[in-house]
Amino acid sequence: MKKIAIFGSTGSIGDSTLNVIRENPDLFEAVTLVAGKNIEKLEKQIEEFKPKNVYITAEENAKQLKERYPHLHIYYGEEGMEEISKLTDFDIGVSALVGIAGLQPTYNMIKNGKTVALANKEVLVAGGKLIMDTAKKYHATLLTVDSEHSAIMQCLQGEKQNKIDKILLTASGGPFFDQEITDSITVEQALNHPTWKMGPKVTIDSSTMMNKGFEVIEAKWLFDVNPSQIQVVVHRKSIVHSMVQFQDGTIMANLGPKSMQIPIAYALNYPNRLMNKIEKIDLFEIAELKFEKPDLEKFQCLKLAFETIEKGHSYQVVLNAANEVLVDAFLKKKITYTQIPKRIERMLKEHTPMVLNTVEEILALDKEIKEKTRQMIEG
Ligand code: NDP
Repeated sequence: MKKIAIFGSTGSIGDSTLNVIRENPDLFEAVTLVAGKNIEKLEKQIEEFKPKNVYITAEENAKQLKERYPHLHIYYGEEGMEEISKLTDFDIGVSALVGIAGLQPTYNMIKNGKTVALANKEVLVAGGKLIMDTAKKYHATLLTVDSEHSAIMQCLQGEKQNKIDKILLTASGGPFFDQEITDSITVEQALNHPTWKMGPKVTIDSSTMMNKGFEVIEAKWLFDVNPSQIQVVVHRKSIVHSMVQFQDGTIMANLGPKSMQIPIAYALNYPNRLMNKIEKIDLFEIAELKFEKPDLEKFQCLKLAFETIEKGHSYQVVLNAANEVLVDAFLKKKITYTQIPKRIERMLKEHTPMVLNTVEEILALDKEIKEKTRQMIEG
């Protein structure tokens, strides 16, 4: 029985992870649940999965939980996050908080030499080198659950001796691939993703294709390839989850249903696959697979992400921090859609590169950029 700690249990990845656990009670047990604000959902999860450790951000919510579940170890606040992410009573930690909030807890798990199933891509965007070096130093295992990166990981099974020519990272293209991007785009339209059901931040990131930019950075770190070896391939149907082209011209591809449960189950039961209740794909129904080039002039966020890879690490921290604030502002209807790339570009232009060696240094720059971006919005 593997013990699972889920950081972000009340989110979309959290739901899918708990589904895998629900369907495989003989294999997995949820011992730690970490949530942000959603106390109602967390309580339902506590009732069903009976964890040992629970985190919720606000102290008053933690007190409420302590009254109802006196036997539980309950954590809250910044200190509580530090403590719960340093516990070692689990086998796999699922890193599925959203945004930079995931960096410190993921780093703590890795520093303890744990196995981490990584969904939170912002962790590698902001802290790629540090996370990879720390994982190596402390013999931690990093498994990806992002569907594209899981696909690549699977395409690379048994291929250690074969050099990668190119990683072909597929992208759905989001809701606006076939239409003009203007300021009349509403929050509701941007949240209407054509193929995946995800949390609000990653859904907006998918619509701007910033998500794909983040995934390019993520792939660079996970698979130790040169960014020029990563090609973004738009594939609207999301049937092919990504591909690897080898030096002899062979392309290995991973195809399958559109469900995050599959890559999550693969990571939890790595390297063995698990049965599930998800409907299989029918190739006759799909009939054909189409691949297109992304337009970097239209998807400015993707272009900016590529540029930050050339410019260096601290630019990626700026990209991530500014994007987090601007996406939140767009979701709250404080800015228009095209303001997202425009204002990120401005923050990047104003940035002077710096060396960031520690989590503390990364978080300090993140905080500074977020404050500046908020001031820019208010001003
Ligand atoms: P959601 O917004 O659905 O969930 C985020 C989770 O993190 C929630 O449980 C939320 O709690 C919790 N959370 C957020 N901030 C904090 C905080 N400061 N402290 C404690 N808990 C916090 O996001 P997703 O599940 O969609 O995505 C999670 C990560 O996985 C993202 O980085 C995303 O890019 C990545 N990812 C997601 C995919 C998907 O299909 N959803 C696919 C591939 C990657 P609460 O809701 O209780 O406030």
